[in-house]
Amino acid sequence: MSSRSPQPLDPATFRARLDRARAAAATAGNDALLIAPGSDLRYLLGVAGGSHERLTVLVLPAGEGVPALVVPKLEAPGYAHVPTADLGVEVVTWVDGEDPHRIAASRLGKPGRVAVSDNTEALHVLPFRDVFGAAEQTLAGPVIRELRMRKDAAEIDALRRAGAAIDRVHARMGEWLRPGRTEAEVGADIAAAIVAEGHALAEFVIVGSGANGASPHHMVSDRVIEPGDVVVIDIGGPLPEGYCSDSTRTYAVGEPRDADVAETYAVLQRAQRAAVEAVRPGVAAQRVDAAAREVIADAGFGEYFIHRTGHGIGLDVHEEPYIVDGNELVLEPGMAFSVEPGIYQANRWGARIEDIVVVTEDGVEALNNRPHELVVLES
Ligand code: ZN
Ligand code: ZN
Ligand code: ZN
Repeated sequence: MSSRSPQPLDPATFRARLDRARAAAATAGNDALLIAPGSDLRYLLGVAGGSHERLTVLVLPAGEGVPALVVPKLEAPGYAHVPTADLGVEVVTWVDGEDPHRIAASRLGKPGRVAVSDNTEALHVLPFRDVFGAAEQTLAGPVIRELRMRKDAAEIDALRRAGAAIDRVHARMGEWLRPGRTEAEVGADIAAAIVAEGHALAEFVIVGSGANGASPHHMVSDRVIEPGDVVVIDIGGPLPEGYCSDSTRTYAVGEPRDADVAETYAVLQRAQRAAVEAVRPGVAAQRVDAAAREVIADAGFGEYFIHRTGHGIGLDVHEEPYIVDGNELVLEPGMAFSVEPGIYQANRWGARIEDIVVVTEDGVEALNNRPHELVVLES
């Protein structure tokens, strides 16, 4: 977990989140949440912290009891900017040689059920099992996601700015994506532009040229881009305040070599549009997946669409809600996620179109606004 630059924190926002998390924990039948460094901690305290063999954990009692940030004494300065007093969080430091799991547990008396955040390392989960004795351990993810997946206006604004920043990178693709260059060379230029356009870092850069485009999570390789290649570019990363961008466009370097590109790509474009048009409050997440999948299947490409239609986005690039068959979650205003169908013809070429969208009071807002057509660059 990288420590990103500290941001000014509005204590009221975080106090409300801590209160909601405690209430949600109680509703779910948990006596406490144990939140490890990472996005959940950043959501609740404004700081992601660092993941380490030394235990750092936010102990959040569901009912009575004062929340505590248990942190190694030598790492406590990294949390000095967090207004813990305003948030009603006690900072409990420990030094090497002490048992931090026991110190954390001592905050809670004899809980019946404790929920650990999803990314807690086994290195800490198993010692917690020992110190909590008979207490049932469960995942905090289902509790925290109820908060994180409904974004407030400030979070949506941050996602909007992230979307605009990655759109500016896509708008410049012709500067870098040229025949004779390797995917890795193009990717390095894109990564620099992602930062130059306002991101804290380039979290991922996919340059899938030719047959590599048929592998959805291909990153970059030393393959040299050739005239006529179709190239999938999927890029994103967090803004300094932590909210992420993620957008894919498919490019052609000169006129596409394969005769079936235009027709197949048109199907993909229709599928992506159908899925976005399906988004509104009250619709099940799986309906949005089905809207894209039906268009692609009807055109005979069903077997080439090998992943879900989308994922939620916020402080993590991939989070709830997942736009996938079987997810009956009903969409609500403030939910943000990708709509990214793809068609992947193994050993030939692939294509994907990905926008982040947010559910509004009566429909949907796209946070990426580059054109959806296949972008044919000069070769
Ligand atoms: Zn992905
Ligand atoms: Zn993506
Ligand atoms: Zn995505």
